[in-house]
Amino acid sequence: MTLPAEADVAICGAGPIGAATATFLARPGLRVVLIDHDPADDPDHVATYRYSGGSIRWTWPDPVKREMTTQTEQFIRGAAPGADLGMIENTYHLLHTGEHIPALNVSATGLVGMLRDQAQEAGAMFVDALVTGVRPDGSGHVVETSRGAIRAGRVLGAMGAANASVFPQASAEPEKRQLFVLDLPVPPERELLPHTIVPVGDGFGYVFVKLIDGDLRVLVGQEDIVADEDTSGPVDHWKEILDSGLAATLPWLRDARVDDILWGVDTAQKTLVVDEPSPGVLIANCGSAIRSAAWLGRTLAERLGSG
Ligand SMILES: Cc1cc2nc3c(=O)[nH]c(=O)nc-3n(C[C@H](O)[C@H](O)[C@H](O)COP(=O)(O)OP(=O)(O)OC[C@H]3O[C@@H](n4cnc5c(N)ncnc54)[C@H](O)[C@@H]3O)c2cc1C
Repeated sequence: MTLPAEADVAICGAGPIGAATATFLARPGLRVVLIDHDPADDPDHVATYRYSGGSIRWTWPDPVKREMTTQTEQFIRGAAPGADLGMIENTYHLLHTGEHIPALNVSATGLVGMLRDQAQEAGAMFVDALVTGVRPDGSGHVVETSRGAIRAGRVLGAMGAANASVFPQASAEPEKRQLFVLDLPVPPERELLPHTIVPVGDGFGYVFVKLIDGDLRVLVGQEDIVADEDTSGPVDHWKEILDSGLAATLPWLRDARVDDILWGVDTAQKTLVVDEPSPGVLIANCGSAIRSAAWLGRTLAERLGSG
């Protein structure tokens, strides 16, 4: 699709935030252009959703985060009853309290694919181009891309961690996240392994099963067990995590080896961070944007639609 000369809203980035916002803006009839370049094989390209665990439910008692995730869950169930989202329903098992809470896990790439389809069905135009810059132009802005420029009344920066390279004003704090994919087989009795949350020291580990390329795999993530500031690539601190208490609580993990590390750079803040460097330009970031996608899309569409 070639880049049109003009739009009401140009959205830079079609990850969960950009694609969801495009849907809610296009439905009432705005001319929305969604610009994304998403090469899966370029190691320098940032598209964090690809590495996401895809966990939707929020287990902690924060009412705002609960609302963000509830809206997304309702949206997914209502919007895509037949879509192939690799949906797995099981439970969160909070080992420290003994609670079992219903959990929902989806394929993040499946969800983003569905959101992009919905945006286009609602009337948004999708253009495959790399955004290189945004500059003011009269009462609007010009978005420069690898396939030409587009003039838009309003612009949304939704390129995740890559926002910072196009918008120097982006204030979201980057945060590295990793998931260890283990070599463990997933026999039928482990297929519905609860998404187990294990407090370890000042942090916690989470162990869950996820569909990757059609196979069920056991994944382990951690928050605040082992510090890891290196945002240049994955770091294998699996043994350190095991030895710091995870293996003592879940001995069946002790002999597991790491097959792969899913890693990416997310946003430290788990609620919406919006910068507005000039009227009509919003830069949006949110950690855990998969589980909040519908809420983020509605909230940003309201702000952009009324501008
Ligand atoms: C290991 C790991 C596990 C995670 N687990 C979860 C989880 O269980 N649940 C959850 O909710 N979240 C999870 N997350 C976080 C979640 O993946 C991110 O919060 C989310 O992907 C951010 O969405 P986004 O739309 O802001 O950016 P992204 O997902 O990074 O999407 C940005 C989009 O912009 C495009 N883009 C980038 N640069 C350009 C450019 N210059 N021009 C054009 N297009 C561009 C990219 O191709 C991409 O499509 C996890 C993250 C990691 C790393």
